[in-house]
Amino acid sequence: MFYPEPIAKLIDSFSRLPGIGPKTAARLAFYVLRMKEEDVIDFAKALVNVKRNLTYCSVCCNITDTDPCRICSDKSRDVSVICVVQEPKDLVAMERTREFHGHYHVLNGAISPMDGLGPDDIRIAELVRRLGDDTVQELILATNPNIEGEATAMYLSRLVKPFGIKVTRIAHGLPVGGDLEYADEVTISKALEGRRELY
Ligand SMILES: [Zn+2]
Repeated sequence: MFYPEPIAKLIDSFSRLPGIGPKTAARLAFYVLRMKEEDVIDFAKALVNVKRNLTYCSVCCNITDTDPCRICSDKSRDVSVICVVQEPKDLVAMERTREFHGHYHVLNGAISPMDGLGPDDIRIAELVRRLGDDTVQELILATNPNIEGEATAMYLSRLVKPFGIKVTRIAHGLPVGGDLEYADEVTISKALEGRRELY
């Protein structure tokens, strides 16, 4: 490498992040070099904290710093409805609408044979465990409107059928192939409102 080792190492670390090529990695590394030391320390601490102080909620599998998470512990929320999302950021997108007052289940992924991801690679077993008693009346499948999201929704609707729970899928007001996290609040609210039952 032409760079001194510390900066070469930082460039290498940045370039391991998704969507960051070598040029961007170098630009970021040199930006860090020019940052105030206290800001760099804050940044480094934030990186370490996200690994050390976050865990997965033992109920809904969302990322949390308390277990159960704040949503699962909130007694004012409707326990009879579970909205299933792919990622923690999708839950945040749903919450932003302030339209949904039930509980969530975060799969932390989607079924994707292309990527070698099957049902056992995401948090489906944990979801099934929550359906054992008669508490849950409706499961809203809010996985993304793309191939993986649809495959996951299809799989879940079949899996849940024997439980006699109403299974609904959010409406397709969402852009096809798009991600829930990028949709605006109005679009998500409409998609939630227009959900249809799956058989
Ligand atoms: Zn939770």
